[in-house]
Amino acid sequence: MSSVPTDFDIVILGAGPVGQSCALLLALHWSDPARIAIVDAKPAADSARDPRTLALSYGSRQLLERIHAWPQDVVTPIETIHISHRGHFGRTLIRHDEYGLPALGYTASYGALLAALQTRLEASGIDIRRPVKATACTEADDGVRIDTDHGPLTAQLAIHAEGGLFGQPSDADVQRDFAQQAIVSVVQCDRAQTHTAFERFTAQGPLALLPVQQGYALVWCCAPERAHTLRSCPEAEFLAALQNEFGQRVGRFAAVAARHAFPLGMNVHATLTQGRSVRIGNAAQTLHPVAGQGLNLGLRDALTLVNALEQSPSPEQALQEYTKQRQLDRGVTSQATGLLARLFVGNPWATAALAGAGLTLLDLAPTLKKPLAQQMMFGQR
Ligand SMILES: Cc1cc2nc3c(=O)[nH]c(=O)nc-3n(C[C@H](O)[C@H](O)[C@H](O)COP(=O)(O)OP(=O)(O)OC[C@H]3O[C@@H](n4cnc5c(N)ncnc54)[C@H](O)[C@@H]3O)c2cc1C
Repeated sequence: MSSVPTDFDIVILGAGPVGQSCALLLALHWSDPARIAIVDAKPAADSARDPRTLALSYGSRQLLERIHAWPQDVVTPIETIHISHRGHFGRTLIRHDEYGLPALGYTASYGALLAALQTRLEASGIDIRRPVKATACTEADDGVRIDTDHGPLTAQLAIHAEGGLFGQPSDADVQRDFAQQAIVSVVQCDRAQTHTAFERFTAQGPLALLPVQQGYALVWCCAPERAHTLRSCPEAEFLAALQNEFGQRVGRFAAVAARHAFPLGMNVHATLTQGRSVRIGNAAQTLHPVAGQGLNLGLRDALTLVNALEQSPSPEQALQEYTKQRQLDRGVTSQATGLLARLFVGNPWATAALAGAGLTLLDLAPTLKKPLAQQMMFGQR
């Protein structure tokens, strides 16, 4: 009778979108994918119910295509991004044709993306264990020991992809509470602009409408007290408040689906590696959702780590290389989202008007707009 293996080359902790993508990137070149294990605390059906809609950058599409997990049939292209500031003149348009790409990015539900990854993972030969919760990770001779609620595992390398949301217990070096919550839902309106995403800065935080196959996914960031009211108030009251905040650009808001709330802040780990353990995705940094950067950044973590493991003569050197190569992208993206999250919050009118003028200037000046678009599509690379 064959026993269940407990020793692996690599164990990935967390089968969210970053952990699964990392596993599939590794499997492309690993001589024996059964020597890679991935564990997740939740059953797959629970993860599939996550209410988030994710804006995936063009760079993320390229990565997901490489591992044959691009969910083509369920994504919605974003061809134009419209950026505005409530109550002030000025707006910026970023269009896909200015950059010679079929789309600036795409939207997909968290569940649909996981389903595409899961299908590939099940065919990859990788050892999948769920629900299995990792409870501790300790250095051992020439590797790591991972304690789980189903017994210990050992590996040459542990990849932490346990993700997380702001507000959960964290030992991150930088922890910044933005005193905002995101109300997440799907809304219907009567003049949808197909394939246009809206990012609107308001006095309490950014409000995004992302095109999805039926309507718009809403990410409305505001003060926690207001979020509490918006989450529980009657539908008509919610739609009126949204109309007031967003204006008439997509016509009249007619319906809203179930509403969910996420606390918002930033957690960043300064150190990505410790011995034979390494962090990727939200386990390395949790960002504000403005401009939809978190998952895209996490996928770039996974790609850089796998490239470093393939190209370096030892795991130690690979982890050093990974840390070095991720510094700029993580730094720029976390600073930029931190700035955008609070851009017009609590600013006096004069600053806000200047910022409105800045949006117009940005619209007219390709030399300023191009780096912004580049960051949103590909990050720093
Ligand atoms: C409201 C909102 C909107 C967002 N919109 C966007 C967007 O448009 N674009 C974008 O790029 N990003 C967006 N993000 C960020 C994005 O959701 C995250 O960056 C992304 O989900 C991170 O993926 P991950 O795999 O690292 O972590 P997660 O998605 O958190 O997955 C982690 C996995 O690890 C498992 N796990 C946790 N602990 C353990 C343990 N001890 N043992 C085993 N398994 C464990 C969990 O069950 C889970 O399955 C948004 C975030 C929020 C809150």
